[in-house]
Amino acid sequence: MHELALMTSLVDRVCEIAKNENAKRVTDIHVKRGELSGVIPESLEFCFDVCVADTIAADANFHICDIAAKWRCDSCENIISKVEDLSVPICPECGNYKLTLIEGREFQLDSIEIE
Ligand SMILES: [Zn+2]
Repeated sequence: MHELALMTSLVDRVCEIAKNENAKRVTDIHVKRGELSGVIPESLEFCFDVCVADTIAADANFHICDIAAKWRCDSCENIISKVEDLSVPICPECGNYKLTLIEGREFQLDSIEIE
């Protein structure tokens, strides 16, 4: 399971940050999940519970912020955030299909809140 590996390293980082800040506990963890990251929110939440057990973050609330995919058209430089078909994005301005993905594939720690 892809999500378990992601979550394991994420929780490791959270615990390290909390330790460096001399925190008693972690109350909230915020992550960013790109629309095209392939990470499934339900799996993340399940893995979160598994990974934080017996850590300083055991009672933390888990927040997922969804990041919509965004492309730049290679031909007219239009920024595109809505496409008809995610698997074959096409520029609505000029019809070009050579687009560069600039956002939406990430999965990363955004911020944490500690006590
Ligand atoms: Zn275009």
